[in-house]
Amino acid sequence: MQKWITKNRYEIHRVLKDRCNSFLISSENFILLVDTGKTSAYKKLIRNINSLNIHPYSNKILVLTHTHFDHCQNAAKLSTLNGFKIWVGKAESTFIKNGYTPIPQGTNIFTKILVAVAKRLLKPFLGYAPFDVDLEVTNNVLLTEYNLNIKIVATPGHSAGSVSIIVDDEIALVGDALFGIFPNSIHPPFADDTKEMIKSWDKLLQTNCKLFMPAHGKPVSRELMQKEFKLYSTKNDFQS
Ligand SMILES: [Zn+2]
Repeated sequence: MQKWITKNRYEIHRVLKDRCNSFLISSENFILLVDTGKTSAYKKLIRNINSLNIHPYSNKILVLTHTHFDHCQNAAKLSTLNGFKIWVGKAESTFIKNGYTPIPQGTNIFTKILVAVAKRLLKPFLGYAPFDVDLEVTNNVLLTEYNLNIKIVATPGHSAGSVSIIVDDEIALVGDALFGIFPNSIHPPFADDTKEMIKSWDKLLQTNCKLFMPAHGKPVSRELMQKEFKLYSTKNDFQS
């Protein structure tokens, strides 16, 4: 399992990879899990969390970067069977009680067609078990009450309620706010509101983070983020 350590010794473990990355941030009395992967990954996720041997911990929080099925299909189980409290962007809450979050628009001709087809044919496979939300994130949530330099910030665009987790002002876990399907690209193939998403990139660049970890694929450097922000903010007529 790959891990990253920040300047103040926060450990970020990648507890799931492949289809959807899931990260776990640990400290003495606290674990913060970010995203859950799909139903089929549940056993692997639990096995990987347990293998870290970070018991005992008193606070277990699951932050969902958003509620597309591949990020949250294990949320209900993690709440009822494993005692995780669930934090999620407020704009996602309306979908959770129905156990279905609409997939976003395609951002290019291929994914536009794909979404049109998938919306009709694949809907039965894109759902998840509904779950209770313990905290609806509207803007910034600081984890100072746990003595942690961790911040959850709203980064809408890919979906209205997308959030990112800023760890030690050094590494950002960004869900689907950015991820490239081509080399040296960070523009996701799907987004509800591209302009909003570019604004969120700007917000992420206003932190001191050096590394941006998407839920799909490899970490993105600050340099690549800056280059892509410049390109797409011009294209989308958006200046910070
Ligand atoms: Zn998504």
